Amino acid sequence: MLSKIIIFILIIAIIYFFIIPKFRGKKPRNDGDNFVECSKCDTFVELKDSVIKDGKYICKECLK
Ligand SMILES: [Zn+2]
Repeated sequence: MLSKIIIFILIIAIIYFFIIPKFRGKKPRNDGDNFVECSKCDTFVELKDSVIKDGKYICKECLK
């Protein structure tokens, strides 16, 4: 009876430490590269390389 409880706890521990971090780890990687469409040249640029002007995303090339 006690061994069943230990196995049950072990299964929960395995799910908690191995399966949940996999799901958590995938999300930031997919959201890490956010691409936005430039309103002037219609090319997709990374969010960090874009500037918001008048509520629209504009790439650095179009700002020159
Ligand atoms: Zn542009």
